[in-house]
Order: sequence, then structure tokens, then C-alpha cells
Amino acid sequence: MQPTDCGFSQGMSLMQIANNRTAQTSPPRLFVLAAAALLFVVSSFLLVSTRFSIVWTIAALFVFSIMAIVLTGGVIALVGIRQGRLPRVLQVFARWSTAALYPVAVVAGRLAGLEKDRVRGSFIEIHNQLAAMKPLKVQADEILLLLPHCLQWADCPHRITIDVNNCRQCGKCVIGDLLELQRSYGFHMAVATGGTLARKIIADVRPSVVVAVACERDLAAGIQDVRKIHVIGILNERPSGPCYNTTLNVAVVEDTIRALLN
Ligand code: SF4
Repeated sequence: MQPTDCGFSQGMSLMQIANNRTAQTSPPRLFVLAAAALLFVVSSFLLVSTRFSIVWTIAALFVFSIMAIVLTGGVIALVGIRQGRLPRVLQVFARWSTAALYPVAVVAGRLAGLEKDRVRGSFIEIHNQLAAMKPLKVQADEILLLLPHCLQWADCPHRITIDVNNCRQCGKCVIGDLLELQRSYGFHMAVATGGTLARKIIADVRPSVVVAVACERDLAAGIQDVRKIHVIGILNERPSGPCYNTTLNVAVVEDTIRALLN
């Protein structure tokens, strides 16, 4: 398997790639702290309300228990990320807990005036770091690189959503470089215009791993959506604003693919 000219690193693991990315994006702890803060406020309210009646006390105990379990999973995820490993059963628990904490963290972030994308980015990082702990090695044709349509140069006349091979590799956007990577390694690659098409592509290709490129909003939604498949998220870059002529570091994609290959 020959690396292409796009790559600049030699044999990075998924964990190293995730750690490099985390240094530039929202830290995983932001997501758990936001959820913990909101759960603390709710807990305080319930604690006060237990004076009202026995029904409130039972309800408070029930909600407390659920919150404690889910939050414990979030803390376990952070500890595991700090140490770079977790026992398999705790990985599953941490993944389940962070998915359950996600809507809580989004509401908490909104109340605290945090940008939505910072909370989403933190969730994506926590997901990626947990995913990187799985000792997963696959063949190239078990990988699907799923790209957003906004990566394509807006004035390009070629219909790459029908078939990425329609790209003429003119160099005006990164699709050409990614196509070269795809031909070099042999993984599946597709461009989706939205969640419905993305789900259809995944159902058609039936990959073992999806390397998904998107903005924070779409990645967070996609990760929540596709629970049964191993998903690794890569954020796009938006120098011209959202959904328009976006781009990405092709070397990060190549490093991720190489780290996944058997
Ligand atoms: S690289 Fe491909 S997709 Fe991008 S503008 Fe050129 S032909 Fe179009």
C-alpha cells in the first residue's frame, strides 16, 4: 500500500490523530462540564422540591439515580481519554453515556451562552477519542469516506454527487486530491447533499467504518444517527462561511485511512 503525495506523517494511530485534532478544537471536557452544570442545577431544584411530598421525593431519587449513572459515564470517558485507554465494557458505557448527555450539554451550552458549535465540537472530539480506543483494523473496501457537497467548488459544472469519478481533478477544490487518495488506497468515497442521501449511501455500501467529513452540526447529528457503525468525524474548514466552498486538510484524511488499514 503506497501513500500518496498528500500524506506527511508516517503511521500515526487514530489516538494520535485525535489528540492532534483536539489541540485545535473544542476540548472533550467542555461537553461533560456543560452537561454536569445543568444536571447540578436540576438536582438542586429536585432536592428542594423533595420537601413538598413523598411523590416528589420518589421522583427526585429516580431522576438523581439516572443523572448519576449518565454523568459517571461522562467522567469515565474523560478519564479514559486522559489515559488513552479504557476497558472494553467501560468504552461501551462511556459511549452510551456521552450520547445520552449530548442533548443536556446542548441545552446547558445554550443557557450559558456558549456557541452551539463549541459544544458539538467537544462532543465530536469525545466520540472520536473513544472510537480511537477500539483496536479496529479493516480492509480498504470496508471504509467509506463520506463528504459534504459544500467541499466542491461552487461553480464546478461536474455532478460529483452522482459519481465522484465525474471530478476532473482541476485543483479548484479538494475533491480532486481526495479522489486521488481514493484511487490510491481503494476505499469507497461518496458525496452527500444531506442526511437522507448520507443514510442511503451507508445502507448501499454497508461499510465497517465511515470516515465522515462535515461541519459540527452535521457531524454531531450523523454520529447520533449511525450508532451501529464505527464513525470517525473530521471537521471541514469554512474560510468562506458555512456550506460554501469549504475545504479540509487532506493529510488528516490520509492519516486516518492509513491508521484504519490492516
Ligand atoms: S477538483 Fe473536481 S470537483 Fe473540484 S472543481 Fe475541479 S472538477 Fe470540480
